[in-house]
Amino acid sequence: MSYSDLRVLVAGGAGFIGAHLVRALLGDGAEEVTVVDNYRTASADSLTPASRLKVLQHDIIEPLQLDGPLDVIFNLACPASPVHYQADPIATWRSSVYGTDNLLTLARSKGARLVQASTSEVYGDPLESPQAETYRGNTSFLGPRACYDEGKRAAESLLMDFHRVHGMDVRIARLFNTYGPGMAEQDGRVVSNFIVQALRGEALTVYGNGRQTRSFCYVSDTVRGLMALGLREGLSGEVVNLGNPNEVTILTLAEELGRLIGVPTSYTHCPVPPDDPRRRCPDISRARRLLDWGAEVALSEGLAATIADFRTRLDRRGKTLTGAESP
Ligand code: UDP
Repeated sequence: MSYSDLRVLVAGGAGFIGAHLVRALLGDGAEEVTVVDNYRTASADSLTPASRLKVLQHDIIEPLQLDGPLDVIFNLACPASPVHYQADPIATWRSSVYGTDNLLTLARSKGARLVQASTSEVYGDPLESPQAETYRGNTSFLGPRACYDEGKRAAESLLMDFHRVHGMDVRIARLFNTYGPGMAEQDGRVVSNFIVQALRGEALTVYGNGRQTRSFCYVSDTVRGLMALGLREGLSGEVVNLGNPNEVTILTLAEELGRLIGVPTSYTHCPVPPDDPRRRCPDISRARRLLDWGAEVALSEGLAATIADFRTRLDRRGKTLTGAESP
């Protein structure tokens, strides 16, 4: 099974995960890939021009009409870093809710399948660990993260309503902290912040005591899971966690990066952001069962590839790094 002969739309296709997904879809022989992106947190430079690739600047907050047939829509259009999604929280909420509504309307008119990139943030600050898809979460719905958490939760509700009311084929992937080459230097999330800081010989900004945990999933694993979810038959209405169950503390991540970059790690302790989840770890048994999927790239391997990419980009712009040796 492959994407050959399929016409695919990727909303948010110029973003970090989107650009990797677009490359993988083209590599898998998709007949046509159309990207829509508003370039709010992404750049058109992330996409290499190709004959089967069409790119449109459009904000999915506004309705979208496209000519021609469409088979599968992937919705990755939403800022995902807390710093970015809180910078314009109203636009973030609207991207998730109005944006998903607009894509559902488009998918319905085309008879297309819709794969939604949802998030582990729907579990909030979880009281259960690991988090299975059946866990209803513990979100702070009035807090500053709610524009993202609750926007994504509302989008999930809407997808399931279109599925039940109109019989539409929708699938939801809850992504857990994806990282890898191509992340923006200014992304603001922990992996990119720490790599940029360590490569510059600066202290790492640890928020709180650094004992909070995350489970980091390498981007090629995330993309492989999304592609399987978009292709397999019989998965309409399914919700699936995609993440790497290797749960680590932020301090462990910092130490691992220091080791790989070859610098002694020093820390600046910063205040913990409000509602920062204390732990996060996916239960991926459903993904194993439905998609035959598991995360394959170990943290050290994925971080080494990510460091190499950041080093190349920083060096190219003359931001040469102090005291760093090749990993
Ligand atoms: N974090 C940190 N230093 C940073 C950025 C983030 O210690 O420079 C922490 C943050 O408080 C959180 C974890 O790292 O506990 C992951 O944060 P990130 O913004 O990457 O993603 P999140 O999982 O919170 O959406």
